[in-house]
Amino acid sequence: METPGSQTSLHRANLERVVRAVRMAGSLTQAEIARSTGLSAATVSNIVRELKDGGTVEVTPTSAGGRRARSVSLSGDAGIVIGVDFGHTHLRVAIGNLAHQVLAEESEPLDVDASSAEGFGRAEQLVNRLVETTGIAPGKVIGVGLGVPGPIDVESGTLGSTSILPGWTGINPGQELAGRLGVPVYVDNDANLGSLGELVWGAGRGVKDLAYIKVASGVGAGLVIDGRIYRGPGGTAGEIGHITLDESGPVCRCGNRGCLETFTAARYVLPLLRPSHGPDLTMDRVVQLAREGDPGCRRVIGDVGRHIGSGVANLCNLLNPSRVVLGGSLAEAGELVLGPIRDSVSRYAIPSAARQLSVLPGALGGRAEVLGALALVLSEMGDSTLLESTAPAASPAFT
Ligand SMILES: [Zn+2]
Repeated sequence: METPGSQTSLHRANLERVVRAVRMAGSLTQAEIARSTGLSAATVSNIVRELKDGGTVEVTPTSAGGRRARSVSLSGDAGIVIGVDFGHTHLRVAIGNLAHQVLAEESEPLDVDASSAEGFGRAEQLVNRLVETTGIAPGKVIGVGLGVPGPIDVESGTLGSTSILPGWTGINPGQELAGRLGVPVYVDNDANLGSLGELVWGAGRGVKDLAYIKVASGVGAGLVIDGRIYRGPGGTAGEIGHITLDESGPVCRCGNRGCLETFTAARYVLPLLRPSHGPDLTMDRVVQLAREGDPGCRRVIGDVGRHIGSGVANLCNLLNPSRVVLGGSLAEAGELVLGPIRDSVSRYAIPSAARQLSVLPGALGGRAEVLGALALVLSEMGDSTLLESTAPAASPAFT
């Protein structure tokens, strides 16, 4: 029996702290583990040795600040995690191990609005095929992270908004996919997963407070506060698309007027350019034309940036993040959009919040969400599977 406060339970708690730190960071030197867990160097050294002997972690020589060090990561064999991302026009699946290595990744076109049953069927097939190509035993799968392009109700696990995904009304995506794959499924929206992906693998590495802004059919933000996603009780935190910029502006799909979304989302921005640039224009094309020097497209992208910057300034005053990462294809406009965002931030945010902020393009492009889905499993899986046994029991999930 373990009693709270006993040597055994203290030791167990220390093991968990070390595993959790390495699980989220990918790899850390022993000194970094000591800093991030608050444990002494000697304790970390003992725990790492024990975890290494048990096969939970791998230790490789590295250098830190010109000195020899030992880099600790979870063992690649300890288990695999799967990310599934439903975008508006694609399905993307990635397979990774606990050492943060991506082993396989593939995407295919999918009209997500059509039918949720077709979407889940395709996801199941793609997951099974990719697991098979990696040659990993299906029983090694610890969990699946699932991204959907709409807000998830935290209580019920169903999609909260029906305006973006009409074919998914009343669906519980996590339950649906878990039923098909037979492993735990963790669900979140695309903006939250984008923020996790950039935090663990991309432009957010090394910071603990981050806002990831995604402009697509709508405008949303994924908020990471002190290293964790902030969702709010209803799962709607980060809906910056509905910050009011102009009380007499266009009517938004939420029913209010002049929301940030009405100045930045494709359905409002493209009509400005269609008379001069033709009816088939897409946002990707606008970004491309702007990069090639088209004055009208540059003007529109710059205005979008200024408006996003106003929203970011509000966010800065409220949350004081150290980094804002712009995701989605809009980020490919580079300084054409980032410059105006920074201008608005320095104009509207309180100086002390603006000074500490860096605004960067996403480093992962269209992969941010699926990698974020992998990171979601790493973040939510808990440590008991790893510490009880380094080889999880086989399950018939992927046969
Ligand atoms: Zn609105």
